[in-house]
Amino acid sequence: MANCCLCDERVNPPQWVCSKCALDHELAGKPFVDWPDWVKEMANFEHADRRREAEERGLVFTASECIEAEILFYGEPNTDPLS
Ligand SMILES: [Zn+2]
Repeated sequence: MANCCLCDERVNPPQWVCSKCALDHELAGKPFVDWPDWVKEMANFEHADRRREAEERGLVFTASECIEAEILFYGEPNTDPLS
């Protein structure tokens, strides 16, 4: 189970924020590296939570897998017409 790192709304990994927060904070279509520092920090906390949860369930996912997922998800421009 994963939550938006800003409002705790449920999201599907590897998403870090829900679509509402993405719009509110103009994150949609932006690569993770271009996010404001405070949002990255919140995502780091959420990341640590998710990793701890995965470890508790006996799942191990490596840092490189997470980075790949982020690039997959955020490395491409968002084609959402609202953004
Ligand atoms: Zn949110």
